[in-house]
Amino acid sequence: MRLARVGEKGRERPVIVDDGGRLRSLSGYLRDLTGAMLAPNELAWITRIDPESLPIVEWAPRYGVPLAGIGKIVAIGLNYVDHAREAGLPTPDEPMIFLKAVSAIAGPCDAVPMPRGSSGMDWEVELGIVVGRTARYVPLEDALDHVAGYVLVNDLSERDHQLRRGGTWDKGKSHDGFAPIGPWLVTRDELGDASGLEMFLDVSGERRQTGCTSDMIFKVPELVSYVSQFMTLEPGDIITSGTPAGVGLGMSPPTYLRVGDEIRLGIAGLGEQRQRIVQPI
Ligand code: ZN
Repeated sequence: MRLARVGEKGRERPVIVDDGGRLRSLSGYLRDLTGAMLAPNELAWITRIDPESLPIVEWAPRYGVPLAGIGKIVAIGLNYVDHAREAGLPTPDEPMIFLKAVSAIAGPCDAVPMPRGSSGMDWEVELGIVVGRTARYVPLEDALDHVAGYVLVNDLSERDHQLRRGGTWDKGKSHDGFAPIGPWLVTRDELGDASGLEMFLDVSGERRQTGCTSDMIFKVPELVSYVSQFMTLEPGDIITSGTPAGVGLGMSPPTYLRVGDEIRLGIAGLGEQRQRIVQPI
């Protein structure tokens, strides 16, 4: 099932995206779509609803984040060999993790303000893993039972703040608008195996990134199990799993976003995002 939230910012309503791409209102059943609704028994109940029985939403001004109340975003660094190489950094022996502030979360097509004084704003298309069940010290073989579904994430980054402002990476990863999520939350049963999904990212019409989740060094089950050894993952938390090569940092010379640029990105089965870069606020 493809779940989404549509409407003006702060006034989104939950919908199912049916097989024909029509939006079907879930408002008769749910006030909103939150992490609590992703628990296996709740999600099983939602996925039994026949979309055909729901009213069509004729017009929606905007896709919001497909899940309300996301508690944390755990991001994985350097999880693709080609990206580690372009960043000039060694391939990690264990997953390298950092956090993105939840205040950075934005809808998939919301404009992104450039941070004040920024000269190193960069893009990263990524597969986001949505936690559906509390995960703490989860063994590898049980890890997928804790995954409700997947989302598309752009892990926007300010490289000067990330790499040259005394650490940690979080400084360059948490500006407002730096975590566009959506348009859809695709349940695990709908998407199936997440290990062979093609992805792309364009900047103002030029292809910058192409990749496939099959090239991830640490796969989805390893990431869930690994992160759960260090912190409790709650329903609705997101692990964003790293990006393939083709970021601005890796270009020669490095080439970053400018005001007016438009980013377009997608992952097979997870939909597409578009963001316009706008003046600092
Ligand atoms: Zn990233």
